[in-house]
Amino acid sequence: MVNRQWVKFFAEGSAHERDLLGGKGANLAEMAGLGLPVPPGFTITVEACRSYLRSGGEIPAGLWDEVAAGIAGIEEQTGRKFGDPGNPLLISVRSGAKFSMPGMMDTVLNVGLNEAAVAGLGALTTERFALDSYRRLIQMLGKVVLEVDGHLFEREIKTAKRDAGVVSDQELDSTALRSLITGYETALAAHSVVFPLDPWDQLHQTVEAVFRSWNTERARSYRAANGIPDDLGTAVNIQTMVFGNMGDDCATGVAFTRNPNTGERLIFGEYLVDAQGEDVVAGVRTPAPLQHMLDDAVWAPVYRQFEEVANRLELHYGDMQDIEFTVERGQLWMLQTRTGKRTAAAAVRIAIELVAEGRIDRETAVNRIEPGHIELLLHPRVSDDGELDVIATGLPASPGAASGIVVLDPDEARKRGAAGEKVILVRSETAADDFPGMARAQGVLTVRGGMTSHAAVVARGMGLPAVTGCGAIEVDLEQNLFRVGDLIVRAGDELTLDGSTGRVILGKAPTVLPRLDGEIQTLLGWADEFRKLEIRANADTPADVARAREFGAEGVGLCRSEHMFFGPERIAAMRQMILSTNEDERACALHQLERFQEEDYRGIFEAMPGMPIVVRLLDPPLHEFLPHNADERANLAERMGLSLEEIEARIDVLREVNPMLGLRGCRLGVTHPEITTMQARALLLAALSCAAQGIDTALEIMIPLVGDAAELRLQRAVIDETAAALFAQAGRTVPYRVGTMIELPRAALLADRIAEQADFFSFGTNDLTQMTFGLSRDDSGRFLPAYLESGIFTEDPFQALDREGVGQLIRMGVERGRQAKPGLSIGICGEHGGDPSSIEFFNCIGVDYVSCSPFRVPIARLAAAHAALGLRVAHDR
Ligand code: ADP
Ligand code: MG
Ligand code: MG
Repeated sequence: MVNRQWVKFFAEGSAHERDLLGGKGANLAEMAGLGLPVPPGFTITVEACRSYLRSGGEIPAGLWDEVAAGIAGIEEQTGRKFGDPGNPLLISVRSGAKFSMPGMMDTVLNVGLNEAAVAGLGALTTERFALDSYRRLIQMLGKVVLEVDGHLFEREIKTAKRDAGVVSDQELDSTALRSLITGYETALAAHSVVFPLDPWDQLHQTVEAVFRSWNTERARSYRAANGIPDDLGTAVNIQTMVFGNMGDDCATGVAFTRNPNTGERLIFGEYLVDAQGEDVVAGVRTPAPLQHMLDDAVWAPVYRQFEEVANRLELHYGDMQDIEFTVERGQLWMLQTRTGKRTAAAAVRIAIELVAEGRIDRETAVNRIEPGHIELLLHPRVSDDGELDVIATGLPASPGAASGIVVLDPDEARKRGAAGEKVILVRSETAADDFPGMARAQGVLTVRGGMTSHAAVVARGMGLPAVTGCGAIEVDLEQNLFRVGDLIVRAGDELTLDGSTGRVILGKAPTVLPRLDGEIQTLLGWADEFRKLEIRANADTPADVARAREFGAEGVGLCRSEHMFFGPERIAAMRQMILSTNEDERACALHQLERFQEEDYRGIFEAMPGMPIVVRLLDPPLHEFLPHNADERANLAERMGLSLEEIEARIDVLREVNPMLGLRGCRLGVTHPEITTMQARALLLAALSCAAQGIDTALEIMIPLVGDAAELRLQRAVIDETAAALFAQAGRTVPYRVGTMIELPRAALLADRIAEQADFFSFGTNDLTQMTFGLSRDDSGRFLPAYLESGIFTEDPFQALDREGVGQLIRMGVERGRQAKPGLSIGICGEHGGDPSSIEFFNCIGVDYVSCSPFRVPIARLAAAHAALGLRVAHDR
């Protein structure tokens, strides 16, 4: 008895041993244990592969002896002998890592055949079958082990089919197959490649090739793209061949236990009669739906048997299975089962139905839905059913599909959009003042900008499909068109954007509608039972607030007051306020703004009665609001009764070298307390007027960009004074709290002192990331790709929170803040508030809530449940 260290018979393993046996091997073992018909075999463990790779290609000591012992075990079970020309045992050598890597690694079938064995096998079965199996072995071993270009074999098959006058390789008779094999042999010889005729050589060389296939270029890049570690290695499964290519009562097939597109509970599969191995996947012939078996008296019992096995497997694993099988002379053989990949819609439906069927509990159901599933379900998608005229591809910046007519001017987009036209805004890049145009567009296409560019961030926030960084197009504003190479697309032409893939499509592409239907609602309701984090939304308008509430937000974590200043009336008053040089001018503008704001806030409070609403006071550098062109400047001059020169001089004074580090945030309120007073008045008056109508409010006023406790103390005093006066006047009070955004490293460091002045903290992770890295988000597009490529960054820090650096500051801010003020309410309001991996971190450092754009609220609800349940974000399926 050989000491066994590297191999394990199927009968000895189980599904729990994926780490050791790989997914395929573990599940083959599990199926064998269940008593299902699995061709006998054994697994060479991943440890053997790791040892081989670590040693730079040395076969681990004892491996071949153990393999020989394994083969002897199979021989005993099957009564055939490996290498015996009279009654040869044929085997498959199959790769299989812990995580499924479809098509990335190699498998070779019919190992053990050679000229002599072909004769023996032919005598036992048919000559044609033996030859067909042999030519398949030469082909697969040739490609996988001898690394011969596959085209070479395809060329030979083509020639053989032409010579024989047939269309399908199944029609090649023995004579034709013989000359095909001769063709292969000649071709291999011409490439000075020696095909191993000894079965043991075949076996050893194939096992080694499968080990090596772990490190092929495509396997590596697949792992990189899917976050699979490079050091896992693959197991190798050695299994008795069963034959789907022995005639009309044989077949090979693939099936899902439920429909992977819709989730419907009905076996969804295909099969090919008289075929082997991967013929189904490779599309050599078009397979038939599995249900067709029922129309045929010979096949109907096979279908019934398969159905029974499929149900058993599903019941056993508690999830939809993806199954590979072969039928040899009417006998069903199971070759593989694994958790089936599915669309988002199917994932949700299956999870809900499995709970209803009593197969899994709610926690399991919640764990099985990935945040990405919810994301996909919330956006209409381009249907891939029809022919699409894809003219360019950019970055998939904001998912979903959008069709409309091309408009190149943001103001025109705003007007036409407001009038009910569907428009696609096409820009070289977008800036803050394109926002009204974007808000009225169906989608945005930009030539420049990355995944975190303004257009992308804003679009994602609005759930607006966007394609950015589409360098292939060239905008010509003069002629009101854009070019893609020689193609000209004019304003007014119809265009579709696929924000999920980055495709730019000419014309109106068909779409499929999103659903946040009963099933998802049910599932998110379950997620709510498990999560600890509260979920709020970043929302600036009553419509956004209402949508956020519909999606399950429990409050507003960030309402940015500046987004209310972009309407034409408002921007005029705003500009007047900014450019006024004396108290009277300013007071008049402020009064107008106060009226607008009060109305806006009332709308927001009414959309979420009684729920906490965090309103951030004016934050951006003032120059962002200034007129950009001569026309606008002239208008403003007229409105303010000033000369054009005077207006331009005042604008000049406001110019800053580095506005993001200039007069912005609470510095505005410190230098112009009347702005803070105005905003506080508008907020409190709106809350008072709600109170008068019996509507509860829970207002939280947030002071931005605080770096020192004294800034907050001063601003707070202004607000408290304003409140006292208003309450006295109204004869009633409303609850309000004053807190700050922690978005400067200094604020995180001095969080204890700042907490003494604050009722709450909210970490503004966008600015905190910018300020910690000293990295401008809007300019990072130029070098971020290089940083990602060279591995300096593994992720864009504006998308996934940098736990090591920025995360450390947040953790420290939370600790110090709560030290000074136990029970301090703490939230997150940056983009990261909607990112699952960041949410996992926030959950673990004990913040109270995360806030994200309304469209990400459902995703955050699910991610927060996963975080609370301790589910790692990298879902290992
Ligand atoms: P992949 O991981 O690429 O699916 P597999 O190892 O599953 O590779 O092999 C591919 C196909 O080869 C299987 O679907 C099955 O049809 C066929 N196959 C593998 N082993 C055997 C076997 N022992 N008998 C018959 N067919 C087999
Ligand atoms: Mg397979
Ligand atoms: Mg900020």
